[in-house]
Amino acid sequence: MWPMHEKIAVIVAHADDEVLGCGGTIARLADRGCCINLLVLADGETARTGLNQKQQEMLIKKRKDACRNVASLLGIENCSFLDLPDNRLDSVDLLDVTQAVEMFLFEHRPTLVITQHSSDLNLDHEVTNRAVLTAVRPVGGHQVCELVTFETPSSTEWAFSATPGFRPDSFVDVSTSFDRKVESLKYYAAEMREAPHPRSISSLEALGKWRGSQSGFYLAEAFETVFRFI
Ligand SMILES: [Zn+2]
Repeated sequence: MWPMHEKIAVIVAHADDEVLGCGGTIARLADRGCCINLLVLADGETARTGLNQKQQEMLIKKRKDACRNVASLLGIENCSFLDLPDNRLDSVDLLDVTQAVEMFLFEHRPTLVITQHSSDLNLDHEVTNRAVLTAVRPVGGHQVCELVTFETPSSTEWAFSATPGFRPDSFVDVSTSFDRKVESLKYYAAEMREAPHPRSISSLEALGKWRGSQSGFYLAEAFETVFRFI
């Protein structure tokens, strides 16, 4: 299971994507002693309508607190937040997003980067993928040698016409860590929905079982390799 990596970065648009997409994997990597740092690009709250500035600030703080609690539960070393505008990442110059990601990579020096897949209904997820792909190119002195992407339930599978679509080639056995993924999602209760919504616990379990059935595990999370430099 990515045995060569000691320093790993998880880069997501919103606090909750890290659990929905790879919470079980993060827990397993942390169990193995990997140092995992998380970067969250958007504030996750300012796209909501009918809120004044004070209410927005309160929700953003609550979400960051939830993320830090999740980090503690899963074994993430540190969380960084860029506080970019939610569901409006396309309103920020891609160069600025990319440079912020580059600074994070320069600080933490991961060799494996995990981020969101490019074919996604959520615009912030797409921008995140694009910025990360640019930031990890092999220049500038940092040492990212592997980039993988995950599917984000309720947005990757709903990008029906997007190409090339999510085509996983790596599967992580999360049979022993899936309970921590479910436990983590309690901190993001406001983002969860009832079945059959993809962000319901039963749908996440169904996805875990489906990815497990593809790979010979009871429960798995799936990833698509973008590149690997050996
Ligand atoms: Zn998201």
